Amino acid sequence: MENQKTEPTSEQTVKPKRPRRSNKRFKAESKPANGVSDKSAEGIINKPVEGAKQNSGTSVWSIDDFKVDEVADKTRFHDLNLPDRVLKSISEMGFEYCSEIQAETLPITLKGSDLIGQAQTGTGKTAAFLIAMISDFLDYPLTEKRANNLARGLIIAPTRELALQIAEEAVKLTANCHLNVVALVGGMSYEKQKQQLETENVDILVATPGRLLDFARHKKVLLSHVECLVLDEADRMLSMGFIPDVKSIIRMTPHKEKRQTMLFSATFPKDIQALATQWTYFPKEVSVVPKEATNQNIDQVIYTVEAEQKWPVLRKLIEDNGNQRTIIFANRRDETRDLYEKLRKANINCAILSGEVAQDKRVKTLKGFKDGVIQVLVATDVAGRGIHVDNIELVVNYALPEDPEDYVHRIGRTGRGGEMGKSVSFASEDDAFLIPEIEKVVGESIRCEYMVNTSL
Ligand code: AMP
Repeated sequence: MENQKTEPTSEQTVKPKRPRRSNKRFKAESKPANGVSDKSAEGIINKPVEGAKQNSGTSVWSIDDFKVDEVADKTRFHDLNLPDRVLKSISEMGFEYCSEIQAETLPITLKGSDLIGQAQTGTGKTAAFLIAMISDFLDYPLTEKRANNLARGLIIAPTRELALQIAEEAVKLTANCHLNVVALVGGMSYEKQKQQLETENVDILVATPGRLLDFARHKKVLLSHVECLVLDEADRMLSMGFIPDVKSIIRMTPHKEKRQTMLFSATFPKDIQALATQWTYFPKEVSVVPKEATNQNIDQVIYTVEAEQKWPVLRKLIEDNGNQRTIIFANRRDETRDLYEKLRKANINCAILSGEVAQDKRVKTLKGFKDGVIQVLVATDVAGRGIHVDNIELVVNYALPEDPEDYVHRIGRTGRGGEMGKSVSFASEDDAFLIPEIEKVVGESIRCEYMVNTSL
């Protein structure tokens, strides 16, 4: 069991923990002029820098190739003294300055401290934990060869979409080193994943709880040497009933004193607070997304409509919006199917993202939506939760979510990265009673417009 010891109070938590990690970052000025300062390219020590994946085919990269002006109040990735291989990947991804969550958490996590982070998708939290994990693995390479199914880093996410997007970002961030990323998610070929575990190094494992537990119980993947554990969207794991599985998984990892743990959640209901305390060791807490700040970028409106008005109003809304990228959330799968059929018949370029759509199709749909090939996505909460797509102009709640926290997650798909977004929610007599609860959670009252014109 975790957390059998009594934790000291917060005043006592200033001492460095995990001696092997304290002061582990090199001094910035100790970097050699060519900028190649990290000790190793990959999992095994003493590989030359040139041993990094040479997919760019260029000569040795130097930090001088990554020019970003110093700007007051902004943290550059250069300022964090990251291994050059990580910096190179960051520059290739086009990032220049840290997002707020990155600037706040990296100085903590790069020292090896545990973290409890309050942040939603869209804040750059994925790169925040991945950069910390990858930098740590490069700074502390394995000193001896070990079985390739022993995971070094483990990231648990509630949905397949989210896990796959994390894995995608991890692949990009490890493009210049030999750390290998493996994703174990349900709904995709078990055999293929099994084969991957047999043939590839599991440096960074990204997984959904059910499939991971299955593999771990059959000893196809071993979690006993996990150095860094990330629990992403912990509140969602709770609401989806995954906590028992997550507990079993965590029991297979080293004790919390011996691993680094980062837990992220958009919200912190009591149960999550308790689990966060239980799973982390002297954690530092960072909260960078006060809900009010998120909502400021979103023009929110509730249309009070009769049930039969919803479809004509929605159709007009989409037509008036031209080709803008839109997500429509419905509460049930049959509603999404119904809506999808209506949209299709109205010649609106759309696709469906719900649990009943096969996983490979969902991945393709998400890509089409990202690439702008699909304009309108009809989604359920579970499937829509992990969508990391920029420039979504409009979120429509075809029905109000039963859980007010879902409202925050849904509208958080728009208004990202400082852009303005719009959310329109339909409330009919069946669900209008949910409005006060939603307003409580968003911390403000939401403009309501009464739709009188049924001929819309
Ligand atoms: P996330 O909150 O992890 O879903 O990230 C949202 C989006 O922001 C993703 O598309 C990331 O690739 C992107 N992103 C993350 N960090 C940065 C950064 N420092 N600068 C620019 N984009 C970023």
